[in-house]
Amino acid sequence: MWSDEAAGRFGVTLTPEQCVGFDLYAAELAVWNTHTNLTAITAPDEVRVRHFLDSLSVVNAVPMRPGLRVIDVGTGAGFPGLPLKLAFPDIHMTLVDATGKKIAFLAHMAELLHLKNETLELVHARAEEIGHMAGQRATYDAVLARAVARLPSLLEYLLPLAKVGGVCIAMKGKTAHEEAADSKKALGVLGGKLREIIDIMLPGVEEPHHLVVVEKVKHTPNDYPRKPGTPTSKPLI
Ligand code: SAH
Repeated sequence: MWSDEAAGRFGVTLTPEQCVGFDLYAAELAVWNTHTNLTAITAPDEVRVRHFLDSLSVVNAVPMRPGLRVIDVGTGAGFPGLPLKLAFPDIHMTLVDATGKKIAFLAHMAELLHLKNETLELVHARAEEIGHMAGQRATYDAVLARAVARLPSLLEYLLPLAKVGGVCIAMKGKTAHEEAADSKKALGVLGGKLREIIDIMLPGVEEPHHLVVVEKVKHTPNDYPRKPGTPTSKPLI
């Protein structure tokens, strides 16, 4: 059972009801994927390991205590944010994506899973926009992203959203160390400090995954994030 792996590897125990929720999520993902391009991974076992377990691996970097304010930037079909919200219903989760059809899928899932609006916020916006919104900027304890942009650009999306004292977690593959080394300037400009890079092993997956953990140590200057497209076209490198 994949939920035994979640418990054994990451200490995340799921109730039978929560497992039913995850099954529903996998089933709806497969259905929607036939008409909407949500994910390349649809085989049920792969979804459980590469999407669900991988998402839950974030607990290795930040314990999901009740009331924690968490945001997932460029969440796509909800990874890593929605599995974390399912496993830890008492956190506050915001899922943001620039693509409307991704948000439409997430709204559908939130309704099916009876997730309450007060603790799950869905935002259709670019990171460069939400990073300037009152009530969003500098309000999060943990800012997450997987497979959205290279780290120097990604940090410009993530750091403005974190509180001073909060953390940003970038889920990365084999280029994690190289991307971190390229991010010195971005960290300095945006008020971040590299804390650690955690190796994550998933069952049946050979290559390690990495959690790049960045602390927000200083206020991010108000000029950042720059206008849409600029963080990737002119990265702070
Ligand atoms: N995090 C998910 C999806 C990765 S695909 C996963 O790992 O499965 C990248 C997603 O980021 C897409 O859904 C895309 O719409 C979104 N995205 C890319 N750039 C963005 C930006 N600047 N602001 C908001 N969302 C963005």
